[in-house]
Amino acid sequence: MIAVVNGTVITPCRAIEDGVVLAEDSRVVAVGPRGLLHLPPAATVFDARGGYIVPGFIDLHCHGALGVNVNDPGTTAEDLCRIAQFEAQHGTTAFLLAVPTGSHAVMAKALSLIHEATGTDKGAQLLGAQAEGPYFNPAAKGAQAVEHMRPPDILELEEWLRICPELKLVSLAPEMPGALEFIAHARRKGLTLAVGHSRASYEEVLAAVAHGLSHATHTFNGMLGLHHREPGTVGAILTCDDITAEVIADNIHLHPSVVDLVVRCKGLEHTVLITDAMSATGLPDGQYSWDGRPVTVEKGAVRLPDGTIAGSTLTMERAVANAMADAGLTLAQAVRLATLNPAMAIGVADRKGRLAPGQDADIVILDKELEVRLTLVRGKVAYENP
Ligand SMILES: [Zn+2]
Repeated sequence: MIAVVNGTVITPCRAIEDGVVLAEDSRVVAVGPRGLLHLPPAATVFDARGGYIVPGFIDLHCHGALGVNVNDPGTTAEDLCRIAQFEAQHGTTAFLLAVPTGSHAVMAKALSLIHEATGTDKGAQLLGAQAEGPYFNPAAKGAQAVEHMRPPDILELEEWLRICPELKLVSLAPEMPGALEFIAHARRKGLTLAVGHSRASYEEVLAAVAHGLSHATHTFNGMLGLHHREPGTVGAILTCDDITAEVIADNIHLHPSVVDLVVRCKGLEHTVLITDAMSATGLPDGQYSWDGRPVTVEKGAVRLPDGTIAGSTLTMERAVANAMADAGLTLAQAVRLATLNPAMAIGVADRKGRLAPGQDADIVILDKELEVRLTLVRGKVAYENP
């Protein structure tokens, strides 16, 4: 038995002062105020020392860290485990690795590595893959490889699912030919479909929603913006309650007031914090590479030589702190955007995203400054700050 005590528990649906979380094996068995719960004398106790006890963060959109991108030619499954350990240091207990647009062979290799690394229990739990591409609109390429963008292909998806049955999320541009049929097919297979790198009109996004699209990739970045007579991709995402909206709250991809705007439109139920982290994450400013192209990291901002932003160096605990400042949220509200909401978006909320009996014991202790002190992944210590 594990007992995490002496902190404010954020479930995140409510905050419990002087709360306790009890876990047995890999699951939470009880959550409540100290006075209501019996602490078994043999329990291993973790003391939050007056800080916060929160569910582990879930990052749906991570490309890499510590010098590794999931799609780099030399990347191995072991490298992905190092990313998972880095994630745990920042309070992330479950994540998807996002494979960006590439040739069929390059994407297939990355997906097979993810399949290999899924289920190893080092650091954060790798839940599977996101395919961020290749079915994007070249006119909204961002830092993605435009030469490999192509129309949605159901046969290719089927092959990916054979290589990586843990593929959970596909981001695509719904205005591409064949997209609606692809969305309906992928949805039937249990995948989550997101609009991304798109110049879809308002109507095209709603047609995609009618076929099963339910999520939006880094809202505002890499998509047609808002115009008062042409609400466009962004207008549809902000106003359609069937879409959960990712935001990169690094104060580089979005002005703080735009994070506030998204939260005001999408509410606390439909906003999802992501990192979009790439290989320079966890390393100092300098020269790195993204998808075979050189990038410069300056004050944490990652840019191609032409100035295009190419991913981030954000970590989830900073995303939570930034969202609080940007949108005037309480810690409990911001934690929800990083835990329950991403779990709901990919259909794993039955076991992840909350501190409640029956859920995985993915538990993080934050101190008053929101620094990560301890990360438990399914009841095991994945990181402890000395
Ligand atoms: Zn992107």
